[in-house]
Amino acid sequence: MIRLLLRLPEAGVAGTWPTERACRNRLIATRWPDGVRCPKCENAIVGFLKTRQNFYCKSCLLQFSAQSHSIFHRSHVNLLSWFRAAELLIRYNAHHPDLNYPTGHDLRDVLGISYAAAHALKRKSLSELLQPDGGLLGRCVAVGSAVSAPSNVPVGSSEELLWFYHRIAN
Ligand SMILES: [Zn+2]
Repeated sequence: MIRLLLRLPEAGVAGTWPTERACRNRLIATRWPDGVRCPKCENAIVGFLKTRQNFYCKSCLLQFSAQSHSIFHRSHVNLLSWFRAAELLIRYNAHHPDLNYPTGHDLRDVLGISYAAAHALKRKSLSELLQPDGGLLGRCVAVGSAVSAPSNVPVGSSEELLWFYHRIAN
């Protein structure tokens, strides 16, 4: 989490990706840095259906969106809410890893979604953000290159954690 905190955009998530479309473009660029590929057969020859805002695979004909076959698949929550939730979870967790903030109620109030949706959003988001690279969600909201401590600081040590806290404090 602390690694992700150091990589959040300076303007904040909402300032950097203010619309659903901006979030979707960010997701596409993060998920497929070398160009969109079919999630089923990995084929790189992909068309776009403007009317449905969907991609389609020219090999297996699968229609898919930026969200298909990913953590965002069939989510009832829009990408704007996912991105904002990620930022809140990263900020709270990096500073207070012992506390369970933000709560599902916090997310419900901030994002204007149901408690059930907020609770599920938090659970799914954490499963992504706690992966070593932040998962797809973490990579979406983290900009710039990964930050790491000097090579003489052992990876995963308390020394490394202190190094990161020091970075944030300055
Ligand atoms: Zn395909």
